[in-house]
Amino acid sequence: MDDNSMTSQQPAICPICSNGLRNQKIVSRPNAPVLQNVTLSDRAKALAFPTGRLEFVRCDQCGFVWNEAFDPDLIHYDSGYNNDVSSSAYYRAHLEEMADNILAAVPQGEEIHYVEIGCGDGEFLRLVVERAKGRCVSAVGFDPSYNSSKPLPQRARIHPTIFSPETCALVPEETNIVCSRHTIEHIADVQMFARSLSSLITNRERKLFIETPDMDWILDHVAFQDFFYEHCALYTPRAIATLLAQYGMTAKTRPVYFGQYMWTEATLAEASPADGSPAAPSQLPAANPELADAYRQTSERSLHKWHEFIKDRSAAGPIALWGGASKGVTFALLIQSLAGQEPCLDCVIDLNEAKQSCFLPVTGLPIVSPETARQRQISTIIVMNPNYLDEIRDMVERMDWPARIVALNE
Ligand SMILES: [Zn+2]
Repeated sequence: MDDNSMTSQQPAICPICSNGLRNQKIVSRPNAPVLQNVTLSDRAKALAFPTGRLEFVRCDQCGFVWNEAFDPDLIHYDSGYNNDVSSSAYYRAHLEEMADNILAAVPQGEEIHYVEIGCGDGEFLRLVVERAKGRCVSAVGFDPSYNSSKPLPQRARIHPTIFSPETCALVPEETNIVCSRHTIEHIADVQMFARSLSSLITNRERKLFIETPDMDWILDHVAFQDFFYEHCALYTPRAIATLLAQYGMTAKTRPVYFGQYMWTEATLAEASPADGSPAAPSQLPAANPELADAYRQTSERSLHKWHEFIKDRSAAGPIALWGGASKGVTFALLIQSLAGQEPCLDCVIDLNEAKQSCFLPVTGLPIVSPETARQRQISTIIVMNPNYLDEIRDMVERMDWPARIVALNE
């Protein structure tokens, strides 16, 4: 799975800070599905789903991690893309907290003009408008996969297109909030994206919010299932601050969602920074080499331990994963490649109704509702995201379902 011995032929240059010294490959895999959050109702098509290579390199300076083998032409975010996780109460609470954080950035009594880059089906945009209680005068979203039939709030509009220097003109002049959640990690051309974002931050009243996975959390928790094709660019607080500083912005970043994500707030840099301004990127912690070494030494072992656990637990009955999104797709694929032909995982449980009765790309595992999994007599559930463990335990208990529940990265 993850190659410990590999060294690049050519030194890899960090696309953010230009460092080319001591950058190391940390993950190498041959056959990652090019998309994880897809609804595939035909099992044969799921099994034959296109794959690409993962060759993740980590910058020794800013800690940025990127897939050197990424080919953007393999990815099409069309209307079959579905990453809706809002059926979870835990996730819903996270979304509400982030929406309130954005609203608090505009002084009470002032109008809010909101723009969201990569807004998916508009779930978060709707939530911001709803929680603004009339203060949000305009809301504009951009997303090429948008095709929701759900009505939008008044004065909200979503453009089904990618956000680029060409589409910048569709952003209203009054805009004071620009938000981009879980989009920057999908963009390989990091400089182009930062340039486009910065073209919107034209005065100090406009604030930019970015939510993205925290690379160091992934390494620290040996979350090998968090490396996949769609996420071609994984940031640390220093990496994102360095990138935004190159376009005249200062950024403050803090951990959210139990540390798995980081939340960055950026504004136009002041000519002479006042006390309390964010630290210069070079003052933020540099990449810790021990973190990458520890990851490379333990990730293979951890995957083998999970495979052994699954083999042992098979004696008690069928086994399901809980979570048919990126983590579940990747974990299933890695486990199945170790298991070969031996019986392994039975199905994947997901609360997203659009995914139920579909199949995971490449492994072709069926995605089912909790009720169906219970009928399949699942006796072990492996939870892909530890943040949902309590919620899932409660649900299973209410269903009077005597399954054993364990979680990754608990
Ligand atoms: Zn770097």
